[in-house]
Amino acid sequence: MYISDKFNNILPSGTLKFTILIQELRAAGRDVIDLAVGEPDFAVDADVANATTKALTEGHTRYGPVAGLPLLREKLAAEFEGYDPANILVTNGAKQGLFEIFQAICDPGREVIIPSPSWVSFQHQVRLAGGTPVMVDTIQHQLDPDAMARAVTDRTVAILINSPNNPTGAVYERSALERIIDICRKNDLWLISDEAYAAFVYGDTPFTSLFDFPEIRSQLIVVRSFSKTYGMTGFRVGYVAAAQEMIARLTTVHGHLTGNVCTFAQHGALAAIDTPLDALEHRRRQFQKRRDLAVRMGGELFDLTIPDGAFYLFPSVACYQERYGDDQAFAQYVLETANVAVVPGSFFGAPGHIRISFATGTERLSEGLQRIKDVL
Ligand code: GLU
Repeated sequence: MYISDKFNNILPSGTLKFTILIQELRAAGRDVIDLAVGEPDFAVDADVANATTKALTEGHTRYGPVAGLPLLREKLAAEFEGYDPANILVTNGAKQGLFEIFQAICDPGREVIIPSPSWVSFQHQVRLAGGTPVMVDTIQHQLDPDAMARAVTDRTVAILINSPNNPTGAVYERSALERIIDICRKNDLWLISDEAYAAFVYGDTPFTSLFDFPEIRSQLIVVRSFSKTYGMTGFRVGYVAAAQEMIARLTTVHGHLTGNVCTFAQHGALAAIDTPLDALEHRRRQFQKRRDLAVRMGGELFDLTIPDGAFYLFPSVACYQERYGDDQAFAQYVLETANVAVVPGSFFGAPGHIRISFATGTERLSEGLQRIKDVL
């Protein structure tokens, strides 16, 4: 029986694989500390839970408008100066928004430039759309605009930027983003900005949304999410903001793929938008403390670059290569002996590294890092 050629290079999601593995190990009685998954540990706010259950009991359980609830699109549009609801598409997580973008802009042979290391799903999503991911190395986790300019060919359709970055936690500098904007303008490329971690920034480099640059707006596609900001990973609500013609195309894809996002989950999202800013700031500060703890304890074990955003450390484990093998063997060793899950860097295109998520509470985080220290 025939399987499509494009499927040949598709691997399962390396991050989600760990979630399943950890569940299995825990079911078998192992006390595994999960420093693998990128999922905030806090529960959704009571207002969000109440709005969701209220929507459910009031019967908001049927198909809704494909592009999202009008009021939700309206409120989301307010995040983007000059945009209105027709500039917004509500998607099943940022992940589906990205998938639909690649469906809309790729054809066989078309290339999407992605700075590396990168989140596991980008390159597979491009391939599933028939396109070719072109990975360009970063320098100490920061963009290398010269290398990105050199990677542009007459087949390039887009550059994808993910800042704060998963898996490195890097927040890209404004000057580098300006260079990327220039490259996109000169070459008529789409600029895709995955801003899922915008609420988690800790360092001196302030987060710059690519939406802040009016000169690129007609080519810009911004993707954001409720998952991380509001701890709503299971709700699957994200959104895309772009020029109206692009949103219309993406809505066509969306209509064939899932139709609307779960109606009552969108009601929960509506309530989440009203979360007081000080509550979000309180959470950000908690994550900053975790970041500081992870950097302090992780720094004793590994060579690392301090992450300015997201909730990941991405240290090199090259110095342990001789003793424990490559990054996959290292992750396996730590899981087997310390019962701590981390993700091998090769899943993100960076062998010799591991990703340690600090989205978990300080107690488990410090115990996890201590356990790793003990077995090393
Ligand atoms: N984005 C998160 C992570 O990298 C969640 C899992 C996924 O969708 O990849 O761990």
